[in-house]
Amino acid sequence: MPTPLAPSRKVLISGASIAGPTLAYWLHRYGFDVTIVERADAVRSGGYPIDVRGTAIDVVERMGLLPRLREAHINARRLTFVDENAATIAIIPPEAVTGGVVGRDIEVPRGVLTFLLFALTQNGAIRYRFNDSIDTLEDDGEGVTVRFKSGDAQRYDIVIGADGLHSRTRALVFGPEEQFNRYLGWCFNLFSLPNMAGLSHEGVTYAAPGRMAGMYAVGDNAMLHAFLTFATDEPPVHSRTDAGAQCRRTAEVFARDGWEVPHLVEAMQTSDDLYFDTVSQIRMPRWSSGRVVLVGDAAYAPSFLSGQGTSLALVGAYILAGELASHDNPQDAFAAYERIVRPFVEANQALATIGESLLLPRTQEELDRRNQLLAGGLSSADDSEQAARRREVHNMLKLPDYGRAAG
Ligand SMILES: Cc1cc2nc3c(=O)[nH]c(=O)nc-3n(C[C@H](O)[C@H](O)[C@H](O)COP(=O)(O)OP(=O)(O)OC[C@H]3O[C@@H](n4cnc5c(N)ncnc54)[C@H](O)[C@@H]3O)c2cc1C
Repeated sequence: MPTPLAPSRKVLISGASIAGPTLAYWLHRYGFDVTIVERADAVRSGGYPIDVRGTAIDVVERMGLLPRLREAHINARRLTFVDENAATIAIIPPEAVTGGVVGRDIEVPRGVLTFLLFALTQNGAIRYRFNDSIDTLEDDGEGVTVRFKSGDAQRYDIVIGADGLHSRTRALVFGPEEQFNRYLGWCFNLFSLPNMAGLSHEGVTYAAPGRMAGMYAVGDNAMLHAFLTFATDEPPVHSRTDAGAQCRRTAEVFARDGWEVPHLVEAMQTSDDLYFDTVSQIRMPRWSSGRVVLVGDAAYAPSFLSGQGTSLALVGAYILAGELASHDNPQDAFAAYERIVRPFVEANQALATIGESLLLPRTQEELDRRNQLLAGGLSSADDSEQAARRREVHNMLKLPDYGRAAG
């Protein structure tokens, strides 16, 4: 354990999902005085599946969460590719696409991880301010004065933005998101629907040029996660704020598709948990300014084309906390955090565009080549060069041990 700095070091973290509570846990262990402000009225339980892989496994293990996460592991057994007539093109292990390592890497509903992280930080010392968020912040070099939306004002030594892809902390300190949001050419709709198909521990996916539809069954759950994803050169205007327009656009894009697509479009239109966004990465030249620093999706969202958002959030939070505990000056800590984490982030973000996508072929030629590859028998995780590269990148950072470093 690093020697604790002055325990009065007051830190505010914005965002109580994955990066925020992970950071709070470690900072508290190092003697910091931690508050988390979260816009929602509770930790969000959103159920889509997320992965913890490679170096991030070591983080959750050091937090004592590994046994509980293993119990909750989804253990998807197969991924079936179908054509417009619902005929099977191929059935492969999911790891052949994701690069996950069977027996080591973990996939759990997101709410399981956020709940475990929240529970771990319920020690009476870490304060949560739900239903609130940062309105303004002023960094005068000696500290940061934060005014909350609730009207309260407080002074902190350090403010950390762990408030996701559309981070308000980032906007307040670094400027509008457009400068940092790298749109990857796809939009997605995610929603749930009853598991009428009787799917169990599996995913089924259909692709046409520039369009992909899928269903994913977590265990034998009564509800499925469904997605409708499409390519478009320009992200739809007001896409995040006008769900009705987005649904109409999606319905038009998929109007002529077969398989279960008409059923999925109908379910999307009546869904009460529709989540729509563009597929984007956050790329910033620096993750800190003065006494404010960003972590997780706020600083370096990788997008679901690469996966790894959760793992980067866990690893980044662990290292930022360790570096803050190892340096007297926050700027030195931020520089060390960035030096260690940035190469890992960049390699993981680059996975979004390696090779041709098995899941999201953009053109008829890509779709044909993909189907040939699948028909050739991509039967195990080891068969895919892409999966091998993914595995290498997931594991490329060796987690520092801050306890031993401090003697
Ligand atoms: C549909 C979908 C599927 C995904 N699938 C995967 C996957 O398979 N594998 C994977 O690794 N990752 C996946 N991800 C990505 C993963 O969810 C994120 O990378 C990860 O959650 C990042 O964690 P975070 O803590 O940095 O940010 P987030 O989880 O985005 O959390 C941000 C938190 O900040 C809060 N907040 C936002 N604004 C404010 C504000 N102004 N004030 C206070 N609080 C605020 C939010 O309510 C939220 O609690 C997926 C994401 C989506 C959307």
